[in-house]
Amino acid sequence: MQRNPQIETLAIHAGQGADPATGAVITPIYQTSTYAQAEVGVTKGFDYSRTANPTRLALEKCLAALESALAGQPAYGLAFSSGMAATDTLLRLIKPGEHVLASNDVYGGTFRLFERVLKEYGLEFSYTDISDPTRVEASLRPETRLVWIETPTNPLLKIADIAEISRRVKARSTNILIAVDNTFASPFLQQPLALGADFVIHSTTKYLSGHSDVIGGAIIVREKSLYERLKFLQNAIGAVPGPMDCWLTLRGIKTLAVRMERHSANAASLANYLIQHSAVENVIYPGLENHQGHAVAKKQMRLYGGMISLILKGGEKAARKMVETTRLFTLAESLGGVESLIEVPAAMTHASVSGSALEVPAGLVRLSVGIENVDDLLADLDQALRGL
Ligand SMILES: *Cc1c(COP(=O)(O)O)cnc(C)c1O
Repeated sequence: MQRNPQIETLAIHAGQGADPATGAVITPIYQTSTYAQAEVGVTKGFDYSRTANPTRLALEKCLAALESALAGQPAYGLAFSSGMAATDTLLRLIKPGEHVLASNDVYGGTFRLFERVLKEYGLEFSYTDISDPTRVEASLRPETRLVWIETPTNPLLKIADIAEISRRVKARSTNILIAVDNTFASPFLQQPLALGADFVIHSTTKYLSGHSDVIGGAIIVREKSLYERLKFLQNAIGAVPGPMDCWLTLRGIKTLAVRMERHSANAASLANYLIQHSAVENVIYPGLENHQGHAVAKKQMRLYGGMISLILKGGEKAARKMVETTRLFTLAESLGGVESLIEVPAAMTHASVSGSALEVPAGLVRLSVGIENVDDLLADLDQALRGL
């Protein structure tokens, strides 16, 4: 019986048949900048690696397959040297005088790119609480060209209803494009293209590659004409990843499904433990029923992911002490790797937005829950909280 492969299968096989030249089961690292031509202009589909490279092409096809697994129609993938490079390239679709509406809890690096780089070129930006679709709709302007959604957000883990926002925005104007930064969920947990978005962007640095050993980014796009423009921009701007980085990302993606299941299960256990702890004021995790966006998360996500934020009763001082006392949870920025990390966003990942509308509470602690044994992780948090 013929059936469409599901995402667990696509993660391992999509874009990656046996190598036609040698039969190698794993896509080789085509570490080359250029390609021999049989005659002038006669190639095997590759002429220069900024334009296209076979290892990168395998990654681009795999990412497109994952993000379109539920949409029922194909999509197109483009890989970049970082998540920020992907975002910057996508924003080249927007012209001076046009307006971009974004989440007021957007990733700090995205905020910095919008406010301190792209504004100088005449693009207009404004920010709103995208967990409220009514406010998103009310914030649209005649010149709005792009709505930039992040869900769950970083580090407050707010949830935006992608289908509801897409419906309202497209009812206003089909000219307004919708991009979703799907870094925190990964396509295993959430597929925005199936919910009405035009683009997905990723920092593949995080869950997709999953091992904290590579920086990368991606755009996945539904419409062929938009893909062709973005493909032109990818080559024209040139922020492409090298073949080794593409190979590492492909290798990471093979285990995406099992990793996301374990990340989510571990995080759910830790959230339930933390919420009843006497040193903890509040736990923010979309899987908890007290989370403001729980109902929407339940509707649009398969599981709730590996990120938890918490506020300690002892405030900033306790937060700093906790992150310096854990042993298994490493004090570090970034997220989405197999190892557990802990940080204080206000002083670390979100230091660049202090004093702005995006400032986060000083006493907030963010956990990126890894796939270690959950009781080992519990014991580590327990000993760190006991010291407060
Ligand atoms: C890390 C991150 C980015 C930026 O990606 P880089 O790979 O670091 O350039 C963008 N969005 C979110 C949500 C992120 O976590």
